[in-house]
Amino acid sequence: MAYDFDLFVIGAGSGGVRAARFAAGFGAKVAVAESRYLGGTCVNVGCVPKKLLVYGAHVADELEQAAGYGWTLEEGHFDWGKLIANKNREIERLNGIYRNLLVNSGVTLLQGHARITGAHEVEVDGQRYSTEHILIATGGWPQVPDIPGKELAITSNEAFYLKQLPRRVLVVGGGYIAVEFAGIFQGLGADTTLLYRGDLFLRGFDGSVRTHLKEELEKRGLNLQFNADIQRIDKLEDGTLKATLKDGRELHADCVFYATGRRPMLDNLGLENTGVELDERGFIRVDEQYQTTAPSILAIGDVIGRVQLTPVALAEGMAVARRLFKPEQYRPVDYQNIPTAVFSQPPIGTVGLSEEQALEAGHKVQIFESRFRAMKLTLTDIQEKTLMKLVVDADTDKVLGCHMVGPDAGEIIQGLGIALKAGATKMQFDETIGVHPTAAEEFVTMRTASR
Ligand code: FAD
Ligand code: NDP
Repeated sequence: MAYDFDLFVIGAGSGGVRAARFAAGFGAKVAVAESRYLGGTCVNVGCVPKKLLVYGAHVADELEQAAGYGWTLEEGHFDWGKLIANKNREIERLNGIYRNLLVNSGVTLLQGHARITGAHEVEVDGQRYSTEHILIATGGWPQVPDIPGKELAITSNEAFYLKQLPRRVLVVGGGYIAVEFAGIFQGLGADTTLLYRGDLFLRGFDGSVRTHLKEELEKRGLNLQFNADIQRIDKLEDGTLKATLKDGRELHADCVFYATGRRPMLDNLGLENTGVELDERGFIRVDEQYQTTAPSILAIGDVIGRVQLTPVALAEGMAVARRLFKPEQYRPVDYQNIPTAVFSQPPIGTVGLSEEQALEAGHKVQIFESRFRAMKLTLTDIQEKTLMKLVVDADTDKVLGCHMVGPDAGEIIQGLGIALKAGATKMQFDETIGVHPTAAEEFVTMRTASR
């Protein structure tokens, strides 16, 4: 049977756009439906606007350091409205680029909500299209616990469009988004408190990294409240939000920001018309080749809930395009040693196993750890410390994990990701000549094991 399309992609986010463009490049007839914004979460309400706001907040650090370098600056004034307007302009530019990328690759772009109506059929705005394969790349959506007053809280989606910078903010959560936005709000001048339900935030990251970041954030005056969670939120007559914690304490703020994880976006997707099954966490169940339990339907990216990062969605999109339309070039996605950064202030860069994971996996580990005050701070009064850490297998000398908290950690860790992928040993790190004077050279000069 002749279908309208070889591949129908639902969602023009990181994964969907990559799969659609490459599939079309391999000669397939491809459609993409997008209901909200071209480029998806990352471009519109994720990585890109977040990083722009992080840069904005970081300017405060640069200004603080300037005096040590001989600069006398007049009192600065920050304009949230201007930052948001400039950010919005940049996002619109990127939306246009994504449109051109798709159209110039020969992909048919359908703007509207897509609903699957059969194993080989998708409906967009009342129009039905037949297709050999369907790719679900619908991403995720913020999840706020069901507490009284949850409608008074905002999530990252709304934070990017706030009319004003709130004076007092409560950030709830202890993952990437909570830590990043706490840094943004505080860096831009809001009185910020981060509430996390457990003992220490960033569960799953290396223990030294978590502790080090906690200490550095506290030095910066961020109010960290661990073992704290909100029971209800009420709005007072003057508009102030009152958060009542489970331990009975009451906190007042102008904004309560929730970053408590993301659910898969499956709203009105029509999965009931398919044999697609969900896993125990509610994400779409796929096999190692992104095949769902329905033979003609695949899924990638945040909606499968594996690793919710843009470069991972891109790699999955590429793998699907190749598997379907260029099988001779197919290579499975390597989920080992995915480098990642948390754009906190200071930022975290990490790749490979944490010390705890290495021990749990049965490795005999050697730990190399260094804490130092970055050279740039020596002419200032700022006492911030950088952390660098290597987790090494004591038997094979292989470097299992590299972790950093400090300026440019995300930039530095990318190269170390290649080293780990290549299976580098500690001796090869030691034999690598450093770039001097940089902070990064510390990764190749840590000679004595800390433990
Ligand atoms: P998405 O990019 O979410 O795209 C899904 C698209 O599908 C959306 O455009 C949506 O509108 C559309 N859609 C949904 N349902 C339908 C439907 N039925 N019909 C038509 N269209 C539909 N990752 C990083 O690597 N680095 C970062 O710094 C980073 N920062 C982040 C910051 C924030 C605040 C957030 C929320 C996420 C961040 N991420 C970051 C994660 C990253 O954004 C996601 O992992 C990535 O966007 C996932 O891509 P995706 O293709 O799976 O989905
Ligand atoms: P995360 O899953 O990273 O963190 C969620 C946090 O919320 C955890 O600390 C979790 O606690 C806590 N939490 C979950 N449920 C509740 C609840 N009911 N009450 C109180 N606390 C709760 O999610 P995020 O929303 O921060 O980000 C989503 C994903 O997006 C990230 O995992 C990451 O993959 C991606 N992302 C990547 C970025 C980057 O690359 N820089 C930046 C931003 C997002 P606990 O640990 O106890 O479960």
